[in-house]
Amino acid sequence: MALIIDGKKISQQIKDELKEKVAELKANGKTGALAVIQVGTDPASSVYVRNKKNACAYIGIGSLAYELPEETKEEELLQLIAELNTKEEVKGILVQLPLPKHICEDKIIQSISPKKDVDGFHPQSVGAMTIGQKGFVSCTPAGIIQLLKRSRIEITGKNCVVIGRSNIVGKPMALLMLRENATVTITHSKTKNLPEICKQADILIVAIGKPQFIGSAYVKEGAVVIDVGIHRDENNKLCGDVKFDEVEPIASAITPVPGGVGPMTIAMLMNNCVQSIEDK
Ligand code: NAP
Repeated sequence: MALIIDGKKISQQIKDELKEKVAELKANGKTGALAVIQVGTDPASSVYVRNKKNACAYIGIGSLAYELPEETKEEELLQLIAELNTKEEVKGILVQLPLPKHICEDKIIQSISPKKDVDGFHPQSVGAMTIGQKGFVSCTPAGIIQLLKRSRIEITGKNCVVIGRSNIVGKPMALLMLRENATVTITHSKTKNLPEICKQADILIVAIGKPQFIGSAYVKEGAVVIDVGIHRDENNKLCGDVKFDEVEPIASAITPVPGGVGPMTIAMLMNNCVQSIEDK
């Protein structure tokens, strides 16, 4: 029986720690708000945005919501971000992705001041993380490190295989595991012999973006399996990139979907916001 890593519980612990920290900072005159920008009315994005605002309220920081119409011009969004970059009260700026096709995401991400880049997507934040300097770390990978550490799973010296090399999950994940002294292999759609490579992993981190793709043929007996994927199956039930029922019996620990990695992303976003308030 594998340890089921409880992301809901661990994220709640983190938010409670942050709530205390925010109260302390307030007592020392340090406050601030997260600005959340949504362009359009994509229902999934609306849920994420609402959860972020609720998390701000829970830990005791402000949130400013900017709900812009789908047809907002790139120029207008850049103008808003420029204003928020200089607004003292705003300590973090988050632009909910994906953006409508007529807006260049890279341009928008690069327009956010690295001092307020609480998503950790700005090239300066990514560069700082790569060379181990101070800066905001991308929330989902940072959350996975917390899941492992708080579940007392040793990382140093372990073979870690990351499936996926996206800029928001796979690449930063591999870098953070390297920082934690794992021996890291990154795999992607052009990787040959994926099951054999995955079978070498003591810690297998799956961010392939394909529902229930990874079964027991990819997992070594006793491996720790982290499932980053979020999808809806044919019955509209949430599922991950991993066939949980097949993999759980052979893993030593595994994250469920929902309730694994998902809740950690918002907790780490809050952590970045608090770090930003503290740094000012
Ligand atoms: P993505 O941008 O689609 O990247 C998927 C990666 O998987 C790519 O690097 C791709 O390789 C690789 N891949 C695709 N098919 C493969 C195959 N057959 N064999 C090996 N590698 C393959 O996805 P993402 O943004 O990283 O997200 C991954 C998953 O995590 C999605 O389900 C997403 O919804 C979820 N997610 C969850 C959270 C959370 O908070 N829990 C946050 C972010 C994302 P190439 O680079 O060669 O194309």
